[in-house]
Amino acid sequence: MKTSPIQAAALAFPDAGAPQPLFVKDKDLPARWQGRERFVLLETGFGGGHHFLATWQAWRDDPQRCERLVFIGIEKRPPRRSDLARAHATAPDADLARQLIEAWPPLTPNLHALDFEGGRVRLLLALGDLRDWLKELVAEVDAFCLDASIGDPYTLKLLARLARPGASVAAHSWTPTLQDGLRAAGFEVGGPTMMRFAPRHAMQKPAGRMPLASDAREALVIGAGLAGAACARALVRQGLKVQVLDAAEGPARGASGNPMGLFHGSLHGADGVHARFNRAAALALNNALPALTSLQRGLLRLEMDLPLAQMQERLRAQALPPEYVQALGAEAASALAGMQLANPAWLFPGGGALAPFELVQQWLADIPARYGQSMAGLRREGGQWQVLDDRGVLLAQSPLLVLATGHASAALLADHALPIEVERGQLSHLPSPGPRVPLAGSGYAIDDGAGGLWCGATRALNDPDPQLRSADHESNLAQWSVLSGQAFDAPLAGRVGWRLLAPDRLPLVGGLPAPGFEGRADQPRFIPRLPGLVVCTALASRGITWALLCGEIAAALATGAPCPVEADLLDAVDPARYLVRQRRRNPA
Ligand SMILES: Cc1cc2nc3c(=O)[nH]c(=O)nc-3n(C[C@H](O)[C@H](O)[C@H](O)COP(=O)(O)OP(=O)(O)OC[C@H]3O[C@@H](n4cnc5c(N)ncnc54)[C@H](O)[C@@H]3O)c2cc1C
Repeated sequence: MKTSPIQAAALAFPDAGAPQPLFVKDKDLPARWQGRERFVLLETGFGGGHHFLATWQAWRDDPQRCERLVFIGIEKRPPRRSDLARAHATAPDADLARQLIEAWPPLTPNLHALDFEGGRVRLLLALGDLRDWLKELVAEVDAFCLDASIGDPYTLKLLARLARPGASVAAHSWTPTLQDGLRAAGFEVGGPTMMRFAPRHAMQKPAGRMPLASDAREALVIGAGLAGAACARALVRQGLKVQVLDAAEGPARGASGNPMGLFHGSLHGADGVHARFNRAAALALNNALPALTSLQRGLLRLEMDLPLAQMQERLRAQALPPEYVQALGAEAASALAGMQLANPAWLFPGGGALAPFELVQQWLADIPARYGQSMAGLRREGGQWQVLDDRGVLLAQSPLLVLATGHASAALLADHALPIEVERGQLSHLPSPGPRVPLAGSGYAIDDGAGGLWCGATRALNDPDPQLRSADHESNLAQWSVLSGQAFDAPLAGRVGWRLLAPDRLPLVGGLPAPGFEGRADQPRFIPRLPGLVVCTALASRGITWALLCGEIAAALATGAPCPVEADLLDAVDPARYLVRQRRRNPA
């Protein structure tokens, strides 16, 4: 997807001029959402969110409301938070407006998922060009509300691509062009102020985009690390009953058991899939971080190549807001870190450091888990995935299975031709205080809050050695010396773990290709999948930043809920991307 920098709307949105809440005037709407598990609305021209707030209020007022309400709002020129606050200064639904203002995200060209009512009301705020988003959204919409600018046939066809049969359209003004365009796109008149989607030919969803287990009301997650915990959390929020199984004697005993780790976004001049995925993941985590005792906010990433002026130019060109990232000279960065730094740095105010095991514990707090249960085999019988131990005894079964087994996935997925690698990493602990904010560059350093610091980390492919190695400690110390410009004593302690890496350094999230598939394979979305099975792994060295978004993607793919990322990011993390690449190299 081509992303353009986001320009905030210059205008405030006074309540007096707020648009009429069309969705709420649609008398038919509550009847349609009543009793439903999920109801999805899409508004073009989100503006100050008046329709969203009115719809949310109507949902609240309806005792027979749907379980989950998803409101997709597309806006090219969103207001800044201060303008939003002014727009809702005298709002009738003041409490809801306050919650929206508090959750308002940094204005980056992303799909921002903002959750309310414990996740039962989700606003997916798509910032950027309408057509770009209509092409990229992965969702099935029940009701559309169109702003006055919509009418051209191409845009309306894109809209129809997202419509569920029977989806309604409400519009600010019913011009003949709009009505004709909607008719051509498969809509018909459904009432005096309404059209409905009634296509002559049902549109077929691509095989790789069919929900993997839309009817499942329960799920089994294998792996109680960051990936498994995030998937379990997201599935529970979609209303599923979830159980977690892990071979270890407790949660977060694998790579996710590290004492501390960094999380942050990234930026790159080309704003390609890596930069956009990192940004989407960092923003998602930022929105949903629970209170953790280990949490440290703000992160400095030293810039080794660009001078400050070029860093500032990059920020200007991408119009990335200061809540997301700032460019600091060496002096300002040193003041923040509380130590002398030789380089300028990127400050990620929403980034930071935390103890991953604490995050896992929080995410799994209310989810039943069984430990000491090692999955050795898997079979599908009667629409259920059955998990077996090494003697072939059934451990558990479920119509939806999530594999989040960290580096053990390399062996477990060996039959699926995924070019994944296992990398050993070692952290070192030093008995001297660390920087005031977590610091990254080549290597990283995090104060432990108790007079010491964690620094790291080493990288060695296919290295199963579980012992701490002094050579690795020395390598970590050398990196920390480069960052800090100081020499240090030998470390006292450390930790070894293993990362799972895909060659393109993006995670693997989604269904596995159905074996023996011979059809069209030029894009992952055309490749049919094994039913009821989702993989969430290969979180590489970014598991803290990525896990939450990966879990949300896994849950959306399983249940058919609107996806929290755009289609090209979904393709970028899809395990089937390697089959696509293989077929491109060796066409049958
Ligand atoms: C030294 C080092 C430093 C790092 N630093 C950072 C950092 O600063 N920031 C960051 O974001 N990331 C960092 N990472 C990466 C991060 O730790 C990982 O991306 C993340 O922990 C992976 O989570 P996971 O849930 O996929 O795997 P894991 O945490 O390894 O969890 C996998 C779980 O699956 C279970 N399991 C496996 N096989 C089976 C089976 N057959 N049956 C049942 N259960 C099974 C395991 O017991 C384990 O609990 C670092 C990693 C290392 C090694």
